[in-house]
Amino acid sequence: MNAAGPPDLPDRDRAGQQGAEPARADAPLPERYPPLPEPLLVRGGELADVVDDHTHLDSLADHEVDALLAAAARVGVARAVQVGTDVASSRWTVRAVERWPQLLGAVAIHPNEAPRLAQRGGLDAALTEIAELARHPRVRAVGESGMDAYRTDLTDPAALRAQRESFAAHVAIAKETGTALQIHDRDAHDHVLDVLAAEGAPERTVFHCFSGDAALARRCAEEGWYLSFAGTVTFKNAQVLRDALAVVPPGQLQVETDAPFLTPAPHRGRPNASHLVPHTVRAMADVLGLDTQELALILTRTAEHLYGPWYDLGDPGPT
Ligand SMILES: [Zn+2]
Repeated sequence: MNAAGPPDLPDRDRAGQQGAEPARADAPLPERYPPLPEPLLVRGGELADVVDDHTHLDSLADHEVDALLAAAARVGVARAVQVGTDVASSRWTVRAVERWPQLLGAVAIHPNEAPRLAQRGGLDAALTEIAELARHPRVRAVGESGMDAYRTDLTDPAALRAQRESFAAHVAIAKETGTALQIHDRDAHDHVLDVLAAEGAPERTVFHCFSGDAALARRCAEEGWYLSFAGTVTFKNAQVLRDALAVVPPGQLQVETDAPFLTPAPHRGRPNASHLVPHTVRAMADVLGLDTQELALILTRTAEHLYGPWYDLGDPGPT
């Protein structure tokens, strides 16, 4: 485990306090989404307060975000980390965390975007803007950044260089701003480990949508890193992932949607959203041999350790 404390608390004068309208608790769930599962509870029968560690809401209209946040709150998933993947979605993330108190933000250039920007000569300017956006008091993570050999051909030296430079720059931004790092690692485990070894991982480092085996999970856990599991852990053919999950200390786990992608069973093929997190939490509890209520509490505590408090927008937060 990593004994680091929560991030530096934000400066009250910079907190997003422009009067956001509260999300409508009765907003109907758009029809394309799967129905609400049984709510996650904690002992005593109260609703859990689990955080969706990684979601993308930037393609939605504001009223749809209202509806999805309200639906998730009804099943014990009242909060989320909204994640940017380029300059536009990272700017949107800052606007979103000023509007919705349920959201904290992560900002970054996605590893598949980095080579494209580099080719056009725009990577440095984009990274400069990400560094600025990362200073917003409700942006509490840098991500998703990392390495991707699935959609980018990393045998191309220019593409490899762009991804590595971009990832290294994001590691530096996370350290400078004292925020967590959310890593995207797709078919690129060795590249990710190389960059982390060369640059030194930030104190709070999270592998988003962990996709390695038990050996990698054990290695990450020993380093004090955190592993966030998505709906993929519920897939029938994902025993390797369940074996990986089984070796992680529960206090180093997170749960996420990566919405609108990676919808958990039994709703594969339909769009994902935070209200489906209970399916994934229940599958994780089964694998870990833990009571779902106990796991829900541990996940909440870890999310707050990673990202700090989600106080109301009108409330300056702890001082
Ligand atoms: Zn993502």
